Amino acid sequence: MATVLKASPIVKQYAADLKQECAKLKANGITPFLKVILVGQHPPSVTYTKNKKKFMEGIGAKCEILKLDEQVSEKVFIETIASVANDKEVHGLFVQLPLPKALAHIDVGQLVPSEKDVDGFHANNLFKVLSGDCGEKALVSCTPKGIITMLKHHKIDVTGKSVAIIGRSLIVGKPLSMLLTNLNATVTLCHSRTTQLKEITKGADIVIAAIGKAKFINKDYLSDDKKTIVIDVGINYDASGKLCGDVDYDDVENHCSHITPVPGGVGRMTILSLAQNLIKAASSLAKDS
Ligand code: NAD
Repeated sequence: MATVLKASPIVKQYAADLKQECAKLKANGITPFLKVILVGQHPPSVTYTKNKKKFMEGIGAKCEILKLDEQVSEKVFIETIASVANDKEVHGLFVQLPLPKALAHIDVGQLVPSEKDVDGFHANNLFKVLSGDCGEKALVSCTPKGIITMLKHHKIDVTGKSVAIIGRSLIVGKPLSMLLTNLNATVTLCHSRTTQLKEITKGADIVIAAIGKAKFINKDYLSDDKKTIVIDVGINYDASGKLCGDVDYDDVENHCSHITPVPGGVGRMTILSLAQNLIKAASSLAKDS
């Protein structure tokens, strides 16, 4: 039976640190403030934003969700981002994705100033990930950062390990491939046009699924030695409407060494990363002001 890499003990530990850092900032007159822009009523997005708000408030930060109508014009949408970006009270800003079709072409990562880009999508922050310069001021994309935190917490050293990431999105796969490369892993970034996917994943020490297809990865994708570490990023619903990942958990759990659950795995680590980025952004902005 695999070791289940649950997020809750890690989140509990790091949230306590964040609470302390937040209290210190507040004692100096700075209340870390996250503003989330939510366009429309996409049900998972409404849930995600609520969860994020709850977490931020739990560590003592301030969080507001600014709701825009699904039909909002491009002009008003862009002006709203600019107005929040210029608000001196706000330390972190992100736009909940996905956007409605009419706005989907907009590169929101470039509209949010890099120092408030707690989602880590701005070119400056992505370049820091690319160059391996993830020091004091870098705001690293939340899901990849959360996965690295989880691996480090469990003392899983990726040096020299072969990692197969399935999914090359800018939100998950691409930045994660860079972070892992910077940590000396040998990464294969797979996608929908990859041929012989099973051969690649079967040969990997760590398999990370970020595909967006319910229960896509089963035991046939894993090494027969049952030593693979499986990280499931997916958030999907199965045929019965139950929340599930990109990994067929029941099929895989006895055929790998470690596995992240869905829910209770990478999703919670992502929210933790967002809070870490907010505190970092608030501290850096306070130092610079
Ligand atoms: P995306 O749709 O932007 O990208 C999906 C990727 O999967 C693409 O690169 C595509 O090439 C690849 N892919 C699709 N079909 C494939 C196939 N048959 N074989 C190999 N590769 C294939 O997705 P995303 O935004 O990166 O999200 C992926 C999943 O992760 C989704 O379920 C999403 O909900 C979830 N997600 C979870 C979190 C979290 O915090 N847990 C954060 C972001 C995304």
